[in-house]
Amino acid sequence: MNTSIASDWIQPALYQQPLENGMVKCVLCPHQCMVHEGKTGLCHTRQNINGVLFTLAYANPCSLNVDPIEKKPLFHFLPGSKIFSLATAGCNFKCLNCQNWEISQSSPQEVIHYDLLPEAVVELASNRQIASIAFTYTEPTVFYEYVYDTAKLAHQKNMKTVIVSNGYINEKPLLDLCPFLDAANIDLKCFDNHLYRKLTGGSLEPVLKTLKILKEQGVWLEITNLIVPTYSDAPEMIENMCKWLVDNGFEDIPLHFSRFFPANQLPDLPPTPIKTLLAAREIAQTAGMKYVYVGNVPALGYENTFCPSCKKLLIERTGFTVNKNFINDGKCLFCHTPIPGVWQ
Ligand code: SF4
Repeated sequence: MNTSIASDWIQPALYQQPLENGMVKCVLCPHQCMVHEGKTGLCHTRQNINGVLFTLAYANPCSLNVDPIEKKPLFHFLPGSKIFSLATAGCNFKCLNCQNWEISQSSPQEVIHYDLLPEAVVELASNRQIASIAFTYTEPTVFYEYVYDTAKLAHQKNMKTVIVSNGYINEKPLLDLCPFLDAANIDLKCFDNHLYRKLTGGSLEPVLKTLKILKEQGVWLEITNLIVPTYSDAPEMIENMCKWLVDNGFEDIPLHFSRFFPANQLPDLPPTPIKTLLAAREIAQTAGMKYVYVGNVPALGYENTFCPSCKKLLIERTGFTVNKNFINDGKCLFCHTPIPGVWQ
């Protein structure tokens, strides 16, 4: 590992527009930063060098791990499998509750990192006989070029690819990436634009658009909603979110309510009460969501999958471990109802 930037690999950023006076507009994400000469955008990963925007987040991941796929969380995508997971530093959100703020709020050259070209990522995963790669921990949008090249190469080797993302990306780059993506878990932080700004620095509408695009493009989708006490725990807001999801055809998409633990700028808030999470689950099910999970609270049994028709237990999980799986050929083993997901 090293702390210098691998300068040979700095390359022009995709999705930029030149402006007057040497400034550049980044059109990768909805922030649309106007970047002055020598400066970086809000995400710390795109720098204006002599009037051209360069990505600083290429082939320099700061986190590399092999995770259970359930940790992303993805519950209807290759359950029980391992996924090679990586991140560079940087993020286009500034979440008050970020668990990974040391790397998400830094630029790639400020943190200890590996030098790892896309070919090496795919080879590392392949050597470990891991069939999928996740871009996760920070925000894949801000290391887009690295994600794109790695995902494209992974597909050539018949590997699957996953993003775990805040969904804050413009339409064109997302559409360009979709052919090389198999699954996504998108954080839907709350369902109120003012609150979105306060919690993350971003806004709600682009995230909803991302959900629609991923679904339309056939990328397997799951959604995570972290419930932060006193911020995103209002039952009415959760109900509005679930109604929007059902009204827009997302009722078959797994929805993960996740428990908040004190972090970053919210060290004094308590963890989300279990009763709040269970109330959210009830609201979602009543609204019509078919696969609702409660995460970060193992041992309560709310991470299990049930058949929406015969109600039998289909996948039993303890934390990130799959104990039993009664899905056969994409269907309930008992009543043969198709269960949406990517099962093999
Ligand atoms: S990707 Fe980064 S530089 Fe580009 S618009 Fe978003 S925050 Fe700004």
